[in-house]
Amino acid sequence: KVRVRFAPSPTGGLHLGGVRTVLFNYLFAKKQGGEFILRIEDTDQTRFVAGAEEYITETLRWCGLEADEGPHKGGAYGPYRQSERKPMYREYAEKLIAAGQAYYAFDTPEELEKMRGQYKTAENPSPQYGHGLRDKMRNSLSLSAEEVNRLIGEGVPYVVRIKMPEGETVTFNDMIRGDVSFNTSLVDDKVLLKADGMPTYHLAVVVDDYLMKISHAFRGEEWLSSAPVHVLLWQYLFGLENMPQWAHLPLILGPDGAKLSKRHGNKYGFPIFAMNWTDPRTNDFTEGFRERGFLPQAFVNVLALLGWNDGTDQEVFTMEELIERFDLSRVNHSGAIFDFEKAKWFNQEWIKRLPAASWQPEVKALFEKAGITIADEAQFTRVLELVKDRCALLSDFIPQADFFFRTPATVDVAAIKPKWNDQKQQFFAELIRQYELLQQWNHDELEKEFKEMAAAHQLKPGDLMLPLRIMLVGGKFGPGVFDIAAIIGKEATIQRIKHTLQ
Ligand code: GLU
Repeated sequence: KVRVRFAPSPTGGLHLGGVRTVLFNYLFAKKQGGEFILRIEDTDQTRFVAGAEEYITETLRWCGLEADEGPHKGGAYGPYRQSERKPMYREYAEKLIAAGQAYYAFDTPEELEKMRGQYKTAENPSPQYGHGLRDKMRNSLSLSAEEVNRLIGEGVPYVVRIKMPEGETVTFNDMIRGDVSFNTSLVDDKVLLKADGMPTYHLAVVVDDYLMKISHAFRGEEWLSSAPVHVLLWQYLFGLENMPQWAHLPLILGPDGAKLSKRHGNKYGFPIFAMNWTDPRTNDFTEGFRERGFLPQAFVNVLALLGWNDGTDQEVFTMEELIERFDLSRVNHSGAIFDFEKAKWFNQEWIKRLPAASWQPEVKALFEKAGITIADEAQFTRVLELVKDRCALLSDFIPQADFFFRTPATVDVAAIKPKWNDQKQQFFAELIRQYELLQQWNHDELEKEFKEMAAAHQLKPGDLMLPLRIMLVGGKFGPGVFDIAAIIGKEATIQRIKHTLQ
């Protein structure tokens, strides 16, 4: 049975890369009829941020990537928050100690600090706890058994560290990268169990992937260097048989080719978080794709193509298509550059494709925030359908459509002036009178009347449309001018023409 997991640490808002990891997990699982599990890796209490878990759950909901099991809905393998699983991990740490594959270490933070200074050399600027230094430190490998028992008996704080073997090669098959090998001499003795009895990520991820029967584990490339520790733990604790197949996803890069970070967002003015996020510790605010005016379908589509393609020219994919086409053999090894302009293009495509009704509530909220009350929903739908081809972000609907609901704040009269003359002045003065008399106020009647009158005045309708547009809209943009007049109604049309004629 295919079972995958997204295992975020609740340390803040969810970044583009995090959501892409969710997506690849999800697509892989759904394609095979498998299960997608959400597990909250909150064992590092110092990095825990209130609200982050809710943020993650809400992001997955917004993206349509909801988990089949997780803290919010339970499941057969719970609890799904590692902090609630605390008692489960110790026995595994003890098992490793008993087998000589892990050991107790009593070093104080000051001693560790001292170690880093004392053994620092030009070739080794940041000495690690492990080979070479292990026997110089205070741990159960360097101290006598009596001493160790005494320290534990006295309640001296300790951590449990993995004992990395010397000069062995750890190899595993990554679904994206193929065989990957590490020399264990180059890996330090990572902490597995902390002084407070909490496991570190390294122990917890292995134990939980085992207990939750995870078959495939997708995660960011930044975890590749930890993989040898995890593979060894799998070997020591469970034999390698049920180890999930790993897939380390390529990094997402900013336009400058460096790993995408908040800095890029600030520098280039684009969001990198899924939704708005305010860090409760600092009150730092980061804008999200959702609030910037992205549709979830577009956001997911953008992420799917960050490091994957289906081998054809197709770019716009529905979730169903993604599930059907997703194939790990087409995931790139190298980093994928995030291009915000392209992301907006995807959003525009999705706005065009989806009926206005599906995103109308979001746009309505934006209008109301801008002080425009929407009284008639059906008419609002018509307006949105009329202008949607011109909108890349949901927020673009305001400049593209606010004139339907309020008199333009400014009218670009300068754009009419150069070609203005008395004939045109007379035409519009007459147009107002004829429009007053119109019985039926609709596109066709308005156009017919306009053209007949132009002919009577011996003017080309084409020369009159732009002035009319500017009068109604305020500038040289917008959908068909008679559509606009039909929707804003007789009173507003006449009033706006009059206003400019004065
Ligand atoms: N808790 C890790 C993180 O925050 C998860 C890595 C993994 O999926 O194994 O990214």
